[in-house]
Amino acid sequence: MIELLSIHYPASSTRAELWEILSVLWVASHKTSITIFTDSESSIKAIKGYIEGKKGKHWSNYSNPHVLQVIKEIINTKELNIVLEKVEAHKGDLLNEQADKLAKLGVNSGSNFEINPNFIREQQCHFTWNKQEIDAGIKEFVKKKDEIESTTTWFLQHRINNWLNKNIINETNWKWSIETWHETKITNNKTNSKENSLRAFSLKLLNEELPTMATLHTRKPNIYTSTECPFCKKYKETNSHIFMCADYGKILKSTFRSIIKRIYIKEKGNIGLHDLMSKITRGHFLKINYHRQILGTQPSDRFEFNDLVKGLIPKSIYRLIRKKVNSTETGKNMVMEIFCSWKRTLYSRWKNRCKDFLNWEIKNDIGESDKKSKASRPSSASALHPSSASASRPSLFPRPLLESEDSDLTSSSVDQMNDAVTRRIFSKLDNLKTLLEKVKKNQEDMKEEIKIIKEEVAILSHDQACIDVSIILKFEHFANVRNINNFYK
Ligand SMILES: [Zn+2]
Repeated sequence: MIELLSIHYPASSTRAELWEILSVLWVASHKTSITIFTDSESSIKAIKGYIEGKKGKHWSNYSNPHVLQVIKEIINTKELNIVLEKVEAHKGDLLNEQADKLAKLGVNSGSNFEINPNFIREQQCHFTWNKQEIDAGIKEFVKKKDEIESTTTWFLQHRINNWLNKNIINETNWKWSIETWHETKITNNKTNSKENSLRAFSLKLLNEELPTMATLHTRKPNIYTSTECPFCKKYKETNSHIFMCADYGKILKSTFRSIIKRIYIKEKGNIGLHDLMSKITRGHFLKINYHRQILGTQPSDRFEFNDLVKGLIPKSIYRLIRKKVNSTETGKNMVMEIFCSWKRTLYSRWKNRCKDFLNWEIKNDIGESDKKSKASRPSSASALHPSSASASRPSLFPRPLLESEDSDLTSSSVDQMNDAVTRRIFSKLDNLKTLLEKVKKNQEDMKEEIKIIKEEVAILSHDQACIDVSIILKFEHFANVRNINNFYK
């Protein structure tokens, strides 16, 4: 009797093997002896460990607790005598090959084999997530879930998916790239300031957070008036542009090659060096794509030098090196060494760029005080003083009305009030416009107009101090007219 069935997630090869074993036990008759041949070492280990109740390992720490428990219960209730034997996979074992074929057919069969955990006798509890029974270790599951969640959030950020596409994601070795960002574990007791700054640099570089012109312009548009690179004046100065500006692309490319050369010679001498270097030179990861700096990453773009300078490790470099050294471990160690060294090269280029940038700032009269001023973030108090850099501020009206200010307001009344505020702002803007036109026409006698403008702006920007002054002046005027000075005093 052969039935083609598929099983639910979480998917793993061990899990599939365990289900195969379970289905054999399910159809076995009572009190029989069975020898099961399987090519999965890990499922043999899991069944033996689970049935013997290995010390210190609770069932909830096993990866497939439901299947294992049902296997155990069937063996016990049917009083089966089971022998598990390991066979080599893909070595021409006829029955093993047959099982493989059936497993592949089962994937698309559409019918499911399921366990109802409520009928499992020994397990006191089982856990569900999103209303689905989860047959996995709880710790392992939660860890995986968190990992997926944080990775997704990271990928979905605008600044990340701006330059990252499917090809680049596939061609990057993420695990190793992450390892080079954190040379030692972040929980390490010894701290090292050099490593700290390198780590900070790596993360900022990847997350488009280095204070480049592009970033500075969004932060302080009144000081840094454009996103253009101040050195080549050709492209937007983004994180990757730092390493491709003018001749730096070429210089860094040859530095990258010489790092590989140095590390390879240390390991293997000159044997195969020439061949490796010519393959590296032809590698797609060394192509500088200048168009990407203007057009952004296109869906068809592949892993290029633009991504290499973000500190990402392309899978193809490892493939090339592994072929030459013929060892997975040496290959990995060499790649890690190359990229740690490469990271330091990028860091020193960044530091040099910062020196040049400081000189540029001095030339353009941008001093420390400008940089520290919070002028680009409008505050109501400074709105009145034209001497501060408020002139280029995009909005004069920081807070007409906030919904949160009165939580009792229903949304429709909030809408109405917002409408009223908007109308008031527009009418005041119209007033300001006519007043400004008058001022332009007639430079004389403009004291009065300026005063009115100031008052209008003060009301709009909630500048209490100015409103107070205006109230007092109005009162003084009123008192003079009515001749009630004594009362006023
Ligand atoms: Zn440039």
